[in-house]
Amino acid sequence: MTPASLNNSDAKILDGRTLANKIREKLSAEVQTIKKSTGKVPRFVNIVLGDSHSACSYANSQKKTAKQIGIDYKLISFPVATSQDELIAYVQRLNQDSAVNGIMIHKPLPSHIDYRIVANYVDVNKDLEGINVTNIGKMILGETTIIPCTPAAVMEHIKSTGISLRGKEAVIIGHSEIVGKPLSLLLLGEYATVTVCHIATSEAGKLIEHVQKADILVVAAGKASLVKGEWIKKGAVVIDVGINQVGDAVKGDVEFETAQKVASYITPVPGGVGPVTVVMLMKNGIEAFKIQMK
Ligand code: NAD
Repeated sequence: MTPASLNNSDAKILDGRTLANKIREKLSAEVQTIKKSTGKVPRFVNIVLGDSHSACSYANSQKKTAKQIGIDYKLISFPVATSQDELIAYVQRLNQDSAVNGIMIHKPLPSHIDYRIVANYVDVNKDLEGINVTNIGKMILGETTIIPCTPAAVMEHIKSTGISLRGKEAVIIGHSEIVGKPLSLLLLGEYATVTVCHIATSEAGKLIEHVQKADILVVAAGKASLVKGEWIKKGAVVIDVGINQVGDAVKGDVEFETAQKVASYITPVPGGVGPVTVVMLMKNGIEAFKIQMK
């Protein structure tokens, strides 16, 4: 893709499915190479507590993508009453099992389980979602290739525009542990000037002024149509992470119709960040496999 000028006002749609297909093909070739040299394919386990139906949509798309890439993916379901200690014991068994290369714990979990505690038992080199504290710490140092999947997907979208982040004003709305905070580190790693906004930014009436200065705007607040097109700087790259059910429709955090008139690039919802997130999970697993083979 030709690098775009940040003054171009015709928004190009960053189609997540097309980008995900491209990444998937690369990963598939990588798995073939791994298979030839080791005789093995990466094996991932996703642990679900309770009704695996609620996990279906995300887990099914993971399963389908894993199959397309040639990864052995298993969804293991436990009763909802499984205790935290039992869950940790199972994670530890998977850590010890050399045939298992990647582990993830499906959210949401029942209230008697503390996700943070359990997630930290996942072996740092089998951490599919990149949420182990050691991997987060290594991200600060730029020392890990296992990166939280949604921020990694956002970075892939930005990279696909060909626009250099160096010296650009990058504004993130949302400071969660899975999106905003790790994304701020990735953007800093590319020498963007990063501002992270959150609920208190809105409460202070300052959200619009931050959005107005953004060359790169990433919105991950979980509030349908929070950002209006008229707030957005002409030619900005807009990445909408939000997923909001509005009646029968799924909407992002950005008012798409007005935003696409001013942005240079914009992700749709659905079909923007989501499909790329799933392939980034697979990429993490392949990185994990490579680390384990060393
Ligand atoms: P979260 O609830 O953990 O965090 C929300 C963040 O947005 C917080 O920092 C909060 O302070 C901020 N916020 C909320 N309302 C705001 C407002 N009015 N103004 C400014 N900031 C505000 O959410 P999360 O888990 O980071 O998810 C955010 C959104 O992204 C959700 O819609 C979620 O479904 C979606 N999501 C999508 C993917 C994907 O792959 N596409 C992955 C993860 C999350």
